[in-house]
Amino acid sequence: MKLSCGTLLCFPLCIVGSIFGSGQARPFPGPDVQQIYQRLLPQIEKIPAFDHHAHPGFADDPDVDAMAAPPDASAALRTRDDNPELIVAAKALFGYPYSDLSPEHAKWLVAKKEELKKQYPGTAYFNLILDKLSTESSVANRAMMPDYLDPKRFPWVFFVDSFLWPFDNQRETARNPDQGVYIPLQEKMLHRWMLQEHVTRLPADLSGYLKFISQVLEDNRSKGGIAMKFEVAYFRPTTFGDPTREQADELYQRYAAGGVPGEKEYRSFQDYIFRYLIQEGGRLHLPVHIHTAIGIGDYFNLSQGNIMNLESVLRDPRYRDTTFVMIHGGYPLEREAIWLAAMKNVYLDSSFGELAQYPSAFKDTLKMWLETFPDKITFGTDCFPYNQVLGAEESYWLGAESSRQALAAALAEMISENEITEARALEFAHAYLHDNAVKLYGDRVH
Ligand SMILES: [Zn+2]
Repeated sequence: MKLSCGTLLCFPLCIVGSIFGSGQARPFPGPDVQQIYQRLLPQIEKIPAFDHHAHPGFADDPDVDAMAAPPDASAALRTRDDNPELIVAAKALFGYPYSDLSPEHAKWLVAKKEELKKQYPGTAYFNLILDKLSTESSVANRAMMPDYLDPKRFPWVFFVDSFLWPFDNQRETARNPDQGVYIPLQEKMLHRWMLQEHVTRLPADLSGYLKFISQVLEDNRSKGGIAMKFEVAYFRPTTFGDPTREQADELYQRYAAGGVPGEKEYRSFQDYIFRYLIQEGGRLHLPVHIHTAIGIGDYFNLSQGNIMNLESVLRDPRYRDTTFVMIHGGYPLEREAIWLAAMKNVYLDSSFGELAQYPSAFKDTLKMWLETFPDKITFGTDCFPYNQVLGAEESYWLGAESSRQALAAALAEMISENEITEARALEFAHAYLHDNAVKLYGDRVH
């Protein structure tokens, strides 16, 4: 009896028969796995993608993120700017003719990009980059939007962590060198939101402060913002208590005008603001993106930022109207994390996993996710401008290529192992690369 259903010959039978293969799944891929991969990859390369998490922009643009990398932070092997794959990216995107990035050769790349920016002025340059990647739209997770990104193709996701830091932050800023970089940037961001709302000083009481927060959310939404983003794991543990309104009120009264709150007091106030923000995310139909992975900076605390710390919030019925996107899918705890997507309002984004890992390992992550909740996972690159020579462009390319290859490889194994048909695999590919994410935003994105 022939159990395998992974060839084109029996393809129509699979559609008629079932979404699954024609028999029991088997534990190893067959000798056809390479052929299936070769057949799937060109189809997957052509699927117009929605990049659910990225930081597009030029290296000298300070608004690419609401925070910055601490100096001398360690970087995992593949995420270093000497990764030779980035040269392959420059060749693919710009026809870079050299195989190293010596200062002399790097000048060629900088000049080539300058020339293209003149040829494709305004928003046309980054639109061209998306076209080269078969990416239809890419989230721009940025402090503010610049005039050189087309809002139709780069929907804005704005940062909300700064609302957690309205008091005197000297204790937190002094905690370690990373916080010394991060916390002042949060203070700056809060100040920018205040400027935006013409608020010159912190409101007198908590109701005034919450009103100000809601006003920023509403205004950012009407300016095109599609979601709010927390990077909270960089700044404090992601275990959130559940203080009462009265407790938060009292803390605001005590510290809004000055004085350094104790660590426990500050966290308790932040717990209240965090819960207020995610509730507002439900009311305003603004999905909530949360950084859930190891992060940059040597002091990033993985156990305190562990995605599973969020479980009590995600499974709390009070927040069932809020859509949550777990950015970076909890990496390197993605195996546990996928089970959080059992909640109807919780999604996992795979960005950064495809850069931190090589495609051989990322393929296994994707396969495990596709075998669990294929309708709850989304594609993202986490692209970021590395430096003046290697920009968001090369990073976009590496993220998109790696994801498409790993996706084709994961699906090829699933077909060859008789888990799904080839037709079903292509549905999964469309869902992961585009459809699952787009559905979260109604008609606000494409
Ligand atoms: Zn990011």
